[in-house]
Amino acid sequence: MMGVLLLAVLLVLAVDRLYGHSTLAFAAAIVMLVVANTPMLRFNCPACGKNAFLRGIFVVPWPNRTCTRCGRDLGEEPSGLR
Ligand SMILES: [Zn+2]
Repeated sequence: MMGVLLLAVLLVLAVDRLYGHSTLAFAAAIVMLVVANTPMLRFNCPACGKNAFLRGIFVVPWPNRTCTRCGRDLGEEPSGLR
């Protein structure tokens, strides 16, 4: 995740130097970050569908052990992330 973020920043800086300020580079960087985050955003509670990385309105970089909405133990689920 940090490697992708670094790569995105370097991409923006490189394009910025070559072509000047470019919104296209920022768009590309954002797309890369979204793609990198897709597996994380797909990790939802199997019972109610709430994202395991959301705690109230906050997003945390690690998944909840139990669902904050329905209380289901997410650690029991075979998710590929553990
Ligand atoms: Zn739930």
